Amino acid sequence: LKGEGLLRLKCPYVASDGEGEINMLIRVIDELADGMRENDSSVVLQGIGIGVPGLVRPNSGIVALAVNLGWKNVPLRKIISDKFQLPTFVGNDTDVAACGEALLRNEKTINNLVYVTIGTGIGAGIIIDRKLYQGSHGWVGEIGHIQVVEDGLICKCGKRGCLETVAAGPAIAGKALQYIRAGYGTKILELVDGDLNQVTAEVVSTAASQGDEVGMAIISDAGALVGKTIAYFVNLLHPDVVVIGGGVAKAGEILFKAIRERIVETSLPMMARTVKIEPSILGDDVGAAGAAALAIRQFLSNPLAGAK
Ligand SMILES: [Zn+2]
Repeated sequence: LKGEGLLRLKCPYVASDGEGEINMLIRVIDELADGMRENDSSVVLQGIGIGVPGLVRPNSGIVALAVNLGWKNVPLRKIISDKFQLPTFVGNDTDVAACGEALLRNEKTINNLVYVTIGTGIGAGIIIDRKLYQGSHGWVGEIGHIQVVEDGLICKCGKRGCLETVAAGPAIAGKALQYIRAGYGTKILELVDGDLNQVTAEVVSTAASQGDEVGMAIISDAGALVGKTIAYFVNLLHPDVVVIGGGVAKAGEILFKAIRERIVETSLPMMARTVKIEPSILGDDVGAAGAAALAIRQFLSNPLAGAK
């Protein structure tokens, strides 16, 4: 109940017709449940939490749209709760991550929290007064598509200069390639043995953490633009804490320093002073732990609901 994982199962994603993916999800839940019972026969499953990369309708648990999965209007909560006869929670993956960070930080003083994930894309989950804010239609926190560069590069959303075009993983890797092609000496080349296809945001982060000037410049520039965007949140919502997660957040202090400096520079001083900017405490497990946290919260509020 403290959010510690008992068992972890990682499956490669195989694109299918939708039904195949749901069957795979059911198999994963079955295997996890069996595995936990094998480890400890007293384990009783109390609920199921699922984070989905897409638009999930609040209350109904229907996945309205998950582009990367090819899902449209999938009643996922009903399918899973009918199958397992257990309380089931389905949320957007970034939203459940925000819930996980808010619930598992165990700090009574956190009422308002923004969770920002920076990976292949950039998004945010928003907790206001200890509740997930989902807007009227379940689609909020699209900070990756806030314009930060006027007349910038075209984004996959069709607009120009979105934060994702300059600070998401692919943009960071692209920037590194530009530096390399322009003839800058950088450790990035060494880390990929000269194979430019292997240049990723992770490699750039590693180079930056080893003091490589090109890597540090790229991560700092990306951090400054993330900070500029978060500064809007600071002025608008004044959260207690902004948590940064996702693959790019592994760049560590170079990224966080740039983010904090830009927030101080561009938001109101008395607001910026009281906002903490922190790395995720849950790391790679943030989605799973957050989804589980939703089920845990329900169990704690009504412990007998799932009892058989
Ligand atoms: Zn965009």
